Amino acid sequence: MSEIKSIGVLTSGGDAPGMNAAIRAVVRSGLYYGLRVMGIRKGFDGLINGDIEEMTARSVGDIIQRGGTILQTARSPQFKTEEGLNKAMAMAKVFGIDSLVVIGGDGSYRGARDISRLGMNVVGIPGTIDNDIGCTEYTIGYDTALNTVQDAIDKIRDTAYSHERCSVLEVMGRHAGYIAVNVSISGGAEAVILPEKPYDLDKDVLKPIIEGRNRGKRNYTVIVAEGVEGKAIEIAKEITEKTGIEARATILGHIQRGGSPTVQDRVMASMMGLKAVEVLKSGGRNRIIAVNNNEVTDLDLEEALKTKKDLPEELITLSKIMSL
Ligand code: ADP
Repeated sequence: MSEIKSIGVLTSGGDAPGMNAAIRAVVRSGLYYGLRVMGIRKGFDGLINGDIEEMTARSVGDIIQRGGTILQTARSPQFKTEEGLNKAMAMAKVFGIDSLVVIGGDGSYRGARDISRLGMNVVGIPGTIDNDIGCTEYTIGYDTALNTVQDAIDKIRDTAYSHERCSVLEVMGRHAGYIAVNVSISGGAEAVILPEKPYDLDKDVLKPIIEGRNRGKRNYTVIVAEGVEGKAIEIAKEITEKTGIEARATILGHIQRGGSPTVQDRVMASMMGLKAVEVLKSGGRNRIIAVNNNEVTDLDLEEALKTKKDLPEELITLSKIMSL
């Protein structure tokens, strides 16, 4: 196996706070180990188009505290075609890139796997606020997003208390309820609606609200993951109509994607960036960096793509019990 000489680093798919910390870690670790590091802008599209620049230690100065990604990100339909992959491979040769660190989610790993089959050495770093990557317990951006949502819940709760209202908050997670179930616990919600679980409005939402009122509650919070059927606005309308309690919907939207990353996201991103470079340097090929049992490890890319994880039932139960 030939030694690697030059790493290309890109961010792909949805952005997440902490991606900058990961880019910084890849660049500085690469330089530390005597490698060239090339920054590829706008995900796989940038590789196809040659939107590439050599990075120095200074290119990543002053970014650890910033959300988003300085390399920007994109969804690249072209990269899913054979022609796009061949173009990307040819462009990598032009810039002397022999290995690729892809920071993103499952979709980005599929792209990484496809280009690895053409001979590129790839390593993936999990970056998504949704925490919906099967092979790892932790993804970069998740902790920051949780804290952003928590801050919003606390603010909304102040006004909900004053007006004796019910607030219905729609949080991110099209297919995964990690954010929703965790903030339902940390935010003291009466009910949480998850994409993984079918729900019954009367039993799962209206009943706990009415019972709570009868026990003396003066404000109510319902968390709705964006992926569930029946959006926050309709659910709020139904609550108002059926309970007489004024309900207001708030859709947090992209506010959850931005902001300065938490300490945890910065440290984890730094650890994963270093690990990605060390894996490549020591001959690891086509691997995914993961965090399991509080340890940063690397897994086979194909195997990692097959791994699924379920939302822990204990969290759902905990959320229910705590809402009494
Ligand atoms: P995420 O990485 O956050 O899951 P996406 O699913 O949007 O984000 O994927 C990001 C990019 O990865 C896509 O725009 C595409 O370029 C590439 N990609 C996704 N799925 C595939 C696939 N099946 N084959 C090749 N490339 C893919």
